[in-house]
Amino acid sequence: MTDLRISAKNLGELALPDFCPRCFWLKLKAHNRLPFQIFPGIFSSIDAYTKRVVHAWIDRNGGAPVWLKGLGEVTGYINPPHHSRFYIELPEYEMLLTGAPDGILTLADRSIAIIDYKTAKYTGTQDKLMPMYMVQLNAYLLIAEHLDIGQVSKLALVYAEPVTDKKTAAQPEIHSDEGFTMPFSISVHPVPMEPAKLQPLFQRAREIYNLPEAPDGRSGCDDCERLDALMLLARKL
Ligand code: SF4
Repeated sequence: MTDLRISAKNLGELALPDFCPRCFWLKLKAHNRLPFQIFPGIFSSIDAYTKRVVHAWIDRNGGAPVWLKGLGEVTGYINPPHHSRFYIELPEYEMLLTGAPDGILTLADRSIAIIDYKTAKYTGTQDKLMPMYMVQLNAYLLIAEHLDIGQVSKLALVYAEPVTDKKTAAQPEIHSDEGFTMPFSISVHPVPMEPAKLQPLFQRAREIYNLPEAPDGRSGCDDCERLDALMLLARKL
């Protein structure tokens, strides 16, 4: 029986240097529905917009914009399946690994590239979330090949960094009667294809999930202690 459903992103958290087993256990048990998890929706909107810009360009021109040349010769795209259809069962870990890639592009050699859009400043390997992104994209690779979507030959992060300097803000063409536009500068960061590195993470996820109660939290994070103090206070009131 597959009792553990985990997203590629959650799996990637295991690779972060400040990984917290307690947070991980709570998220898995609560199916990711934890309070106080506020992620500004604007970033998802911009990621979705970047995808639409790329698809619209390919529809019109048959290839990718110049700023995506780091991906090789793009010939088209495949609409990424909804996460309810993009999954792989891993019977040895009794686990369902799911995901929702931002972009799947077809390449001239008939292989595919899987990409994730990031609305963020590009800092290369300095991005502290990079280990998580690497796991996430390699999980997409596993799922895409399992579903026969195509042979994956490239994984990449596509960073869209807002250009907000004074000179850009003063350009007349960014203004219109409806408002203003903001340009984005694109950087493509290739991600190594290393799906075999996921195996120990599957094992670790299963071990943490099987724990009968929440393990200790990450040392140095006092939020759990604050929560305990608040709960104690609430009981006294
Ligand atoms: S120790 Fe910190 S990171 Fe871990 S569960 Fe508690 S609040 Fe979350």
